[in-house]
Amino acid sequence: MPKGQEKTPSGFYESLIARHGTDSVIVTDGAGKTVWVNGAFSRMSGFSIEDMRGRRPGEILQGPDTDPAAIAALSEALKRRQSLSTEILNYTKHGEPYWIEMHITPIFDEAGQHTHFLAIERDVTERRALETKNSEVMELERQRERERSLLSQINEWLYSAKSMDELLKVARKAMATLLPEAEGSLYIYTDDRDTLEVASAWGDRRSIDAIQPDECWALRRGRAYSFGTRAIEFACAHVEDEKHPFFCLPIVADGETIGMLHVRFTAFHLSGLNRMKLETFIQKRWLLCLLCAEQMSLAIANVRLRQMPLDQSVRDPLTKVWNRRWLVETTGRMIAQARSGEMELAIVACDIDEFKQFNDRFGYDAGDFVLREIAEVLTDVARDRGAVCRAGGEEFVILAPGLAHDEAMGLAEDIRAALGVLKLSYEGESLPPVTISAGVASYAVGASAQSILRAADAALYEAKNGGRDRVISAQAVASEATKRKAPAAAS
Ligand code: GH3
Ligand code: MG
Ligand code: MG
Repeated sequence: MPKGQEKTPSGFYESLIARHGTDSVIVTDGAGKTVWVNGAFSRMSGFSIEDMRGRRPGEILQGPDTDPAAIAALSEALKRRQSLSTEILNYTKHGEPYWIEMHITPIFDEAGQHTHFLAIERDVTERRALETKNSEVMELERQRERERSLLSQINEWLYSAKSMDELLKVARKAMATLLPEAEGSLYIYTDDRDTLEVASAWGDRRSIDAIQPDECWALRRGRAYSFGTRAIEFACAHVEDEKHPFFCLPIVADGETIGMLHVRFTAFHLSGLNRMKLETFIQKRWLLCLLCAEQMSLAIANVRLRQMPLDQSVRDPLTKVWNRRWLVETTGRMIAQARSGEMELAIVACDIDEFKQFNDRFGYDAGDFVLREIAEVLTDVARDRGAVCRAGGEEFVILAPGLAHDEAMGLAEDIRAALGVLKLSYEGESLPPVTISAGVASYAVGASAQSILRAADAALYEAKNGGRDRVISAQAVASEATKRKAPAAAS
């Protein structure tokens, strides 16, 4: 503060504001030509008063991305000598864009004559950037939400499809809606499994009608394949050009690859795309397409199951005995009955001993033959004592409702005896004798379908360990285990 002055002249404060204020100030004459700017303006824009004097601020500060509507509103306010508050994009002397919030006020003299405009401006670049980012995040979230809701609608449709034809129609429409920037095809294996043929296609469809499994990386490697973002990568042979990113996604129903979903983003040319942008784009689509492939897989399995004659869905195609699905479902139902005390329930789990040797020494077909023969023996012996199921591979389970534990042990021994006298030959060659190991478990209070099947398996495991070709009771296994624990508990 200047020394010795009683009262600081207001001009001093004004000059303080002019020099140190953080808001820019521009004063123009009545015609809109600059007559004065403050220090903050020069710091913000890089333009000095010399650069500005006599010129309209707009012609210096506005640039290529300044919104024409904002410019029009500004010149309209100047023309009408009205005040205006707005946000507009300006450019610094070095060409850097920055956002300002601006208030323009027309100044009139005492006689009411318009003499000047006063523009006060504040830099809001950071706030605008945050707002843009927020709105991008929100837009992304909105898009995800749209996709989620579309996916769940598609799911509902896929699941209500009663025939393969219906399902393919839904798939075509769904894919075209969900991925408008892509074209694609759903290929399904032909019955001989040599080729895959187009079952459904959407978009411009530049993909071919039939492909060989070894022309596709996804089918060769047994997992989904994406092309278009890596430095070293190879397009599948069934894709005619390498111009667009694409995905190949195996379609798997009941553990078996039955087809492939091919999605090609023809709206994007690999040569013209910014790598970063492409990667983000592909990543988003990748997850979505994986979901689609998974949903289609499930829906196809579902339709197949619906279309299968009831019997086929629960029978093992090789041996014609019940399959695992039937076993698990029926055991569950029987456990419920056993729980209510209506009946006893026993399970015999059998596994062919050294079965691999049949395949190894006589060929897989001979192995199949042995499996069919054994299934027949089991069915014969179990006849009205239990139902024979193929639990998987060379393992069979006999579900024996109404059989007491010792009766089930007897059944297992009868099977062993029947196999003991069985003589098999395949294509003129006689095969070595077949033996089985078996575990027998019975329902006890508190048991579940899983626990009883597990107990039979554990006993079967003991039979294998004990040297094969024998029957072990799960009750014996359990009491052995209790005995082993008892001394430890006592000490
Ligand atoms: P272990 O006495 O310990 O049971 O020996 P294993 O050889 O019977 O058992 P392992 O689990 O080593 O081999 C089972 C074999 O059964 C291997 C598999 O190739 C064969 N297999 C499973 N399903 C089939 C089928 O449907 N047909 C034929 N031919 N072989 C099958
Ligand atoms: Mg075996
Ligand atoms: Mg086995």
